[in-house]
Amino acid sequence: MSVLPELELVRPTSIDEALAVIDENHAPYAGATELVPALRLGVRFPIAIVDLKRIDDLGGITAEADQLRLGAVTTHRELASSDIVRDKAPTLAAAAGRVGNARVRSTGTIGGNLCFAEPRSDLATLLVALGATVDIAGPSGSLTMSVDDFIVGAFETRLGPDELLVGIRVPFEPAGTTYWKLQSYERPTIGVAVVPVGDRRRVVVGAATERPVAGEFGPGDAEAVESFTERLGLSDDLAGSAEYKRAVLRGYLAERLDHVP
Ligand SMILES: Cc1cc2nc3c(=O)[nH]c(=O)nc-3n(C[C@H](O)[C@H](O)[C@H](O)COP(=O)(O)OP(=O)(O)OC[C@H]3O[C@@H](n4cnc5c(N)ncnc54)[C@H](O)[C@@H]3O)c2cc1C
Repeated sequence: MSVLPELELVRPTSIDEALAVIDENHAPYAGATELVPALRLGVRFPIAIVDLKRIDDLGGITAEADQLRLGAVTTHRELASSDIVRDKAPTLAAAAGRVGNARVRSTGTIGGNLCFAEPRSDLATLLVALGATVDIAGPSGSLTMSVDDFIVGAFETRLGPDELLVGIRVPFEPAGTTYWKLQSYERPTIGVAVVPVGDRRRVVVGAATERPVAGEFGPGDAEAVESFTERLGLSDDLAGSAEYKRAVLRGYLAERLDHVP
């Protein structure tokens, strides 16, 4: 880690103003909880940073028909304490309330979390399981895609340097949705989201994998669950060996999906 380089600060107040400046050399930011360490480490070297927090259209939490619309600069704390989110997506509210520490929750945003695509994310895992989508704005217009398509791999998304993540749409959670994580350090070691789909269960595993990995299982699918667990590509790290993570995951899924491994 070193001191921050000298940078120009740009503070647009509309999405169009922001789109007119952002590119490879003008990096957008919201909470800066990920961007500042990246600048200090020298893995990002823009000449200017573009503050998104003064753009009203990037904020707000609303319920529309059967989904929530979350502005990209919504902080983890806002998500966790929102009555609408607690009512329509209680698992998401609870997961946001357990992200990092109080500083990260009060400044870090859901948009920054997805755009940075750090694999050890809670929200990405749950949002993929819930079938959430992202709204993106760029010089050639707007588009919507699933969070699953948006996250390509570790620290890699489909967002171009001249595009903004504007908001996230999250279908109301079906009853029985759960999110569980194993965590030894400041970020999750393994996160598992389980969402009922009829009499089946969509399972998404994240944090221990380069990007969230999904499977869908019905009653009695013990063999399929075992093969899913085997194929996850877990690796050894400071939080534990791949074998340890697989054993924890196997035990959790057996209990959660109600089958004997
Ligand atoms: C100590 C610590 C503990 C953490 N623990 C957890 C945890 O337990 N679980 C978890 O899920 N996460 C955890 N995190 C990650 C945390 O969720 C993210 O740091 C935070 O949400 C990122 O949001 P931000 O607004 O600060 O992003 P920023 O740092 O502002 O931006 C991150 C990246 O996204 C880009 N960006 C941001 N917003 C937009 C946008 N709207 N459009 C286009 N590009 C954008 C920026 O250019 C940058 O590249 C932790 C982080 C820290 C530092």
